[in-house]
Amino acid sequence: MTSERDPKLAHLIDWLRDAHAMEAQAETMLKGMAGRIEHYPELKARIEEHILETQGQAQAVARCLERHGEDASTLKDTGGRLMASLQGMSGMMASDEVLKGALFSHAFENLEVASYRSLQAAAHAVGDEATATVCGEILKQEEAMAQWLYDYIPTLTGQFLARATGTGEAKR
Ligand code: MG
Ligand code: FE
Repeated sequence: MTSERDPKLAHLIDWLRDAHAMEAQAETMLKGMAGRIEHYPELKARIEEHILETQGQAQAVARCLERHGEDASTLKDTGGRLMASLQGMSGMMASDEVLKGALFSHAFENLEVASYRSLQAAAHAVGDEATATVCGEILKQEEAMAQWLYDYIPTLTGQFLARATGTGEAKR
């Protein structure tokens, strides 16, 4: 079956699987962050909003795979979730955990932006316009989250420093 598949389509399907794993990584990471934030309610609320978007994105990507006859229920995404857990644990060690989390999240959102830009182009290239449309919709959510973090980072830095009294309460 696989050997008969158009090699371009095989790449698109691989990349959709990668995107699904990336969303699993995002979900684990965002939940870890949101669950630990205590003193930064704006950040926590925006992350919680993006968790819902992320879950929707994973489902939308799964439907793209299903349209190609792929069984999305077998996607395990363990590598991505493990990476996210390790990232979360390394953050817990940092005295500026909340800030490091926001910086890493900004980088991650931009990785997602670039990934969906590529996936959208691949979908166009194989004539899968439904997937291209889905990628365009997800792209807007990732760009909005990246931009929100970009805009918020100076505020967060100020809030963090205002709390930095040496007791460690600023870290989350
Ligand atoms: Mg995402
Ligand atoms: Fe995202």
